[in-house]
Amino acid sequence: MPLKMFLLLLGFPLLVSCQTQNAYFDSQKAHHSREGFHNNYPGREPDMGDFFRWQWQRLLRDAPEQRADLVPWQAVDPSQLTTSQGRSATWLGHASVLLNSHGVRVLTDPIFSERASPLSWLGPKRLTPPPITPEKLPFVDAVVISHNHYDHLDLPSLKQLNAQLGGPPLFIVPLGNAALLRQQGITHIKELDWWHSHTLRDDLRITLVPTQHWSKRNLLGDRNEALWGGYVIQHRGKHAFFAGDTGYSKDFRDIHARFGAMDFAMIPIGAYLPRDFMQRQHIDPAQAVQIHLDVQSRLSLGIHWGTFILTDETIQQPPQDLAQALTNADVDPERFPHWAIGETRQLP
Ligand code: ZN
Ligand code: ZN
Repeated sequence: MPLKMFLLLLGFPLLVSCQTQNAYFDSQKAHHSREGFHNNYPGREPDMGDFFRWQWQRLLRDAPEQRADLVPWQAVDPSQLTTSQGRSATWLGHASVLLNSHGVRVLTDPIFSERASPLSWLGPKRLTPPPITPEKLPFVDAVVISHNHYDHLDLPSLKQLNAQLGGPPLFIVPLGNAALLRQQGITHIKELDWWHSHTLRDDLRITLVPTQHWSKRNLLGDRNEALWGGYVIQHRGKHAFFAGDTGYSKDFRDIHARFGAMDFAMIPIGAYLPRDFMQRQHIDPAQAVQIHLDVQSRLSLGIHWGTFILTDETIQQPPQDLAQALTNADVDPERFPHWAIGETRQLP
């Protein structure tokens, strides 16, 4: 039991406050503080008591059996990634998605590692393998990182991508995350604040947008010192939205107010139970459908499930709950379909 508790503590907040100066602090911005960053729509955040109550309940019950064979999975067909015609998205598991718009490629939150953890021998372990290795990926123009949690910012994967043939991609990160990459020898980085954009080749425009989440990388003292967020990716008149990792908030209607309807949205549908602890940081499938509606998405992909077991639901539950949520909200399931890990679909 002590080992299990240690493992769980690595990934979750200790809520130890630390008076650190925020080098990016701008008093004109409501989400900035001298110590770090805030959500736009703050509520009560989970505290140590919530966390330990959840962990105590987990220790008292038998963990459900988690079967990887219940997750649809296929190896990526690399020939589908190299076309310079049209637009496509390939789900690489968890929150990793490769977007290809007329030969310009953007990769979200890449993780190919065996564990989402600072340790190679301890921490949440993959149930389903990556559907492609990074060496087999075509040239990636930009890698966008939503925040510094280990299941989204995986340094071994970023180092592999940094060494790709043809030169490193541009790594786009929220404020306060570049130093972590520089320590690994990655230098081709752009840090963004919420609503700030960067334009790459062929007028590919990437904007960091607010979400309802938090950040923490170390065991002590760095809570919310680095910013988090999602991305709006615009290319040749089309909009894609990557929600990253988020609770539900009005941020999504704000994003719609600025950008209009999304042609494609990548929205988390996993890691949502128990609700009383998770709701402030992770949406459930019903809220994923609400975000799909808030941003007026033409086609959505449910991410953040089927790869690592982070919370209490079974591995196959997110798409089942999503199907029910779509029925309840009277949304055409073809707009938010069931994707396999490794599957490539053409985008509207
Ligand atoms: Zn997170
Ligand atoms: Zn996550």
